[in-house]
Amino acid sequence: MIIIQLSVRQEKIVSIVKANQPITSEQIASILNITRAALRADLSVLSMMGILDARPKVGYFYIKNAQSNFLLKSVSEIKVEDIMSLPIVVTDQTTLYDTIVTLFLEDVGTIYVNTNGSLSGVVSRKDLLKNIMSGGDINKIPIGMIMTRKPIVTIKKSENVIVAANRINESEIDSLPVVEEYYEDEHIKHRVIGRISKSNITKLFVELCKN
Ligand code: ADP
Repeated sequence: MIIIQLSVRQEKIVSIVKANQPITSEQIASILNITRAALRADLSVLSMMGILDARPKVGYFYIKNAQSNFLLKSVSEIKVEDIMSLPIVVTDQTTLYDTIVTLFLEDVGTIYVNTNGSLSGVVSRKDLLKNIMSGGDINKIPIGMIMTRKPIVTIKKSENVIVAANRINESEIDSLPVVEEYYEDEHIKHRVIGRISKSNITKLFVELCKN
């Protein structure tokens, strides 16, 4: 959980800046009766949070929409790997029946499919429903036959959550497999290491707003 709690001194600094802006760090230090060195850490935290703005040779300003700036700053520092879930993966030979059982047991909406250890497809709830309704023997149909193949929309763990949310929206899908690239026989392959879904992003949003 991300906790945003200003110290008493940081609160004081914010009110000093609000009342006297623009104000230099020397002036803040003398009002608080502390050294500039002691003040430096607090000033850099407040600037990083988007609460204060430092303009060279002018001084510090208070940023009006500090709360929303802070939300944006927090989100921009969160990576996919910080909020991703475990991926649920089956092989392309898994039957349609077993894939449906996996979907229920693992309580997910999307299942990723591997062929020889690398990502080859995706199946969603509607893909499964559609194929049950088409009437074949669900104990015989391998999932590789009905899965969505390339191009699969993916993301890397080091990418920002905003990039992930945007990619989910633009592709009109529920989740993205988090992948690592590797080479095999001079072909680029993707190993699935995580899953980032609309639920992960909604949870993050609620957590940030709580703070
Ligand atoms: P549902 O079909 O249950 O509404 P989605 O909106 O996630 O779920 O999926 C819509 C379609 O997009 C499905 O056919 C699914 O196979 C495909 N799909 C889902 N995720 C991806 C992805 N990451 N890359 C490519 N296709 C995907």
